[in-house]
This record gives sequence, C-alpha cells and structure tokens, in this order.
Amino acid sequence: MEHLAAQMLSRRVLEMEESATLRMAQLARNLAAKGNKVINLSLGEPDFDTPDHIKDAAKKALDEGYTKYTPVAGLMEFRQAIARKFKRDNNLDFTPNQIVVSNGAKQSLANLSMAMLNEGDEVVILAPYWVSYYEIVRLGEGTPVVVKAGIEQDFKVTPAQLEAAITDRTKMILFSSPCNPTGSVYSEKELRALADVVARHENVFIISDEIYEYISFTGKHISIGAFEHVRDRTITVNGFAKGFAMTGWRLGYMGAPLWIAEACTKIQGQTTSGANSFAQRAGMYALESDLKPTFEMRDAFLRRRNLTLQLLDEIPGFLCNRPQGAFYVFPDVRYYFGKSDGKITIHNADDLAMYILENALVATVSGSGFGADECLRISYAASDEDLTEAARRMKEALGLLK
Ligand code: PMP
Ligand code: GLU
Repeated sequence: MEHLAAQMLSRRVLEMEESATLRMAQLARNLAAKGNKVINLSLGEPDFDTPDHIKDAAKKALDEGYTKYTPVAGLMEFRQAIARKFKRDNNLDFTPNQIVVSNGAKQSLANLSMAMLNEGDEVVILAPYWVSYYEIVRLGEGTPVVVKAGIEQDFKVTPAQLEAAITDRTKMILFSSPCNPTGSVYSEKELRALADVVARHENVFIISDEIYEYISFTGKHISIGAFEHVRDRTITVNGFAKGFAMTGWRLGYMGAPLWIAEACTKIQGQTTSGANSFAQRAGMYALESDLKPTFEMRDAFLRRRNLTLQLLDEIPGFLCNRPQGAFYVFPDVRYYFGKSDGKITIHNADDLAMYILENALVATVSGSGFGADECLRISYAASDEDLTEAARRMKEALGLLK
C-alpha cells in the first residue's frame, strides 16, 4: 500500500506536511474514544456556540429559499455588507466586486496562493506563523521564506528583519495580527513600519490575515491595508470562525485589488464554486447586527488568558509572553529539553507535546508546525475548570522530568 501511494500520489501531496493542529486534535479524539479523560487544548476553536440570532438567520434563509448556488464570489448583498464592514471597522475601501467569499479563510488563502504564485516566487512568512501558511504557499509552488521572531521580541518581526528577507523574487508577505499561535498584536506604529518596508519594494504584496480581529485586548484593531502607501497592495483576509464562533459554518472572505479578486474567483469557480448559500445570509446578518455577543466572548477570552497565565506561572520552565489577542499562549519550553522521566527523554517540543498528551492527558500542539520548535501552543478556548485541571495535570507530569 505504502509503495503504491509513493508511486501513484502527486509530489504535491507527498511533500506536504499534515496540519499539526488537526493531527493533534485527532490524536486527542482517539485517546478520548478509548475512554480516557482527555482535556483538549489543541484545536483553535471557540468553545462557545454560534450566537442564537445568527443561527436563526440561517434557519430563516433556508425557509426563504436560499438553497441554490450563489455567484462564485458570494451573494451581492453579502459582499455589500462586507464592504460596509471593511469601511466601518477597518477604514478599508473595497467595492463589492473586490470581495470574494470562500469556504473559510483557509480557502481564501489557498485561492491567493493558486492565483498569485509561480514556481520559485518567494513568500515571506512572519514566524511564528499559523500552521497552514507554509503548506499553502508550497501548494502554489511558491517558496516560503520564514522570518522568525522569538519570545524576547514578543514574537514580533522587526522592519529590519523584514527588509533583510525581501529579494527580487519576493511576491508577498503573509502574517496574522492578532497572531495565531502567539497572541501577539502588532501596534499601529509597528504595522506602519512594516508597511514602510513593503512600500519601498515594488510589486511586493501584503496578505494580512485578520481572522482574530474581534478577539483583541488592545482596543481598536488596526488593518495594515489602511495605510495609504500599501492600500493598493494589501489583501485583507477575514472570516467568521473565531469572532462569531462559526468554525463549522466554513465562511471566510477577502478584500483585494479587483484583478486579484477576479483571479481568485476564477480559481474558486473551477474548484468549489460559491460558499454555502444560507451561511452567507447568516454571515450578512452577523456583520450587520449588534456585535455585543462577539465582545462578550472576547471578554471571556481575556479573563481566561489571565487565568491561564496565572496557572502556567506555577509550572516551572514555561516562559510566556503576555498575549494581546486570539486565544492561545505559546510558552517557550526549552527548559525541558534534555530532561527525562527515566523512560522517555524530551529532545524537542514534539516530544514534549506527546509526553504531555500521554502522561497528563492534555492535548497541546508542538511549536514546530508554527515555525517555532522551542514552543508549545496551548489554546485557552476552554472552561475554567478544564484549564485549571489541565494545568494541574501538566505540572504533575512535568514534575517527573529531571
Ligand atoms: N487564519 C488563521 C490565523 C487561523 O487561525 C485560522 C484557523 N481557523 C484560519 C486562518 C482559517 O480559518 P477558517 O476556519 O475560516 O478557514
Ligand atoms: N485555526 C485553528 C487552529 O489553529 C483551527 C485548526 C486549523 O484549521 O488548523 O488550531
């Protein structure tokens, strides 16, 4: 079987890494299915249900007959609502035909990769980065160029680092703020400085992934695309999964220069067509209605961030920054490398994540998939009880490593 797979499958898939987040979530499910009481802090998914008024809008849309194909780029009234949202929240000016709605922000990113990259084109990815960026770039036959920021710089890349990474083959830079996996948020000043670097290089585009926009503890969210000098060179990606607790609905979107939006629509038209029709109507309603439930979830995440930091502070060797958004902490765990419980020696974060899963029954994700193999990602989108119990179990299991 393995021989046949190696012979028959494409180079594209054979060389692709499986998503580390999804893999860990599956390992946790497998352990739980065997009767283990696993606490799953691996998957980046709000533990809240989608707010009722959004679910009601989807039910209403079904009754109203939104059961057919929509235009590939999305229902016009939905794209109009997204254009209004971009203006209202982000000071971005997009016409509805510059907006492409997709099956999640993941597909928006994949469309961009397919539509913009040729073999050998370089994409500068600011690390730590979200797991799928690297492989999505490679799917488009691009070359990922990783620029890394460690915990000592709050996981934020400096303009000088970005400048040094740009070559005449660079086509775009890709990052998220608030960041998955670090929770770091680039300030307005920091974003402007990055934009200044990009502006100096003709034909370099920015893909700004703002899916955690509404889960930010810093006050007003800043979009890099709002800076005049990179306005025409920025593609802003967003989605409903995080801020509206709609992961399973599969709904994301981008605002882009018209020719890029048209190219992405062309790709999507030959692969998946328009996103789910009644989800689009519900998404439209979500954007246009009171954001109070969204901000209540954000406040809950902030409270849990504080709790999680307090709990992790009790665990030796978990060096944390103070995340300003999203719902992850990303401790530097090098302290444990080289330690052993007498049976297993921890060489890296992959070993540590597996050790914690097997000995504490807590699922986390190794930083290696995020371009930071000295770290561990812990999602705090979980109940206070689970967070407290997970910390207790981790402390106990880690205490056996000498
Ligand atoms: N970008 C980031 C930074 C993410 O964490 C995720 C995870 N869901 C996505 C994009 C993809 O989101 P979606 O579920 O809308 O495809
Ligand atoms: N984005 C989430 C995460 O980082 C969901 C899983 C995924 O799509 O990778 O865990």
